[in-house]
Amino acid sequence: MEDGLSVYVRQGKGFVNREARMDGENLLFPRATAATMRREMDTTLVLLKPDCVSGRKVGEVIKRFEAADFQIRGLKMFVAGAELLREHYAHIADKPFFPELETFMSSTPVIAVALAGDNAVERVRTIIGPTDSKKAAPGTVRGDFGVDVMVNIVHASDSNENAAIELERFFAPGELFDYAMRYETKPATVAS
Ligand code: UDP
Ligand code: MG
Repeated sequence: MEDGLSVYVRQGKGFVNREARMDGENLLFPRATAATMRREMDTTLVLLKPDCVSGRKVGEVIKRFEAADFQIRGLKMFVAGAELLREHYAHIADKPFFPELETFMSSTPVIAVALAGDNAVERVRTIIGPTDSKKAAPGTVRGDFGVDVMVNIVHASDSNENAAIELERFFAPGELFDYAMRYETKPATVAS
C-alpha cells in the first residue's frame, strides 16, 4: 500500500494488525478493511425505557455495557409515539396489556443505544436478564432495577435479524458511527 502503515487495533480482548495510511492528522483504513472490521462485530439495539430514564439509571445501565466491552455506535433520546410503538411491538399489539404498555412507553422520553460487540444480541440479552424482572437474577439489569414484567428498564433486540430491523427503525443511516477505539482510559474515580 502506498505510504502504508502497519498499525495494531483493538479487536475484542486482543489486537490485530491492519494496513492504514495517514491523511494529515487522520489515520485512514482502506475501505475493505473498514468493512471487514464492521463485519467482525455485531450491533444490537437497546432502548432505555421510561422507568430507566426517570429512575436515573441511564448511566448505571450504559456503564454495564461499556464494562462488558461494548462500543456505543449511536445514542438518541426521543418520545416514542403511538405509531412507532405499534410497529416496534407488533408481535404483542393484540395482547390485553398493550394499551398499558403503550402508556408506559410514552410516559417519558426513551433513549435508544446502538451497541457493537462480539455476539452482541445474545450477550446483551444475558446482561439484561429475562422479561419478567421478578424472575431476573440479581446482577442482571432487570433483576437489579426492574419492577415487573412490563416495567423492566430496557428493551433489547432478540435476534440479529430483528437487531438490523430495529436499528433501522430508530436510527437514520448517518446516526450510526463506525470508529476505532483509539484511546484507553484509567479506571473511574469520583471527586469528593
Ligand atoms: N410485556 C408486558 N407483559 C407481558 C409481556 C411483555 O408488559 O406479559 C412488555 C414488557 O415491557 C416487554 C415488552 O412488552 O419488555 C416486549 O415483550 P417481549 O416478549 O418482546 O419481551 P422482551 O423481549 O422485552 O424481553
Ligand atoms: Mg422482545
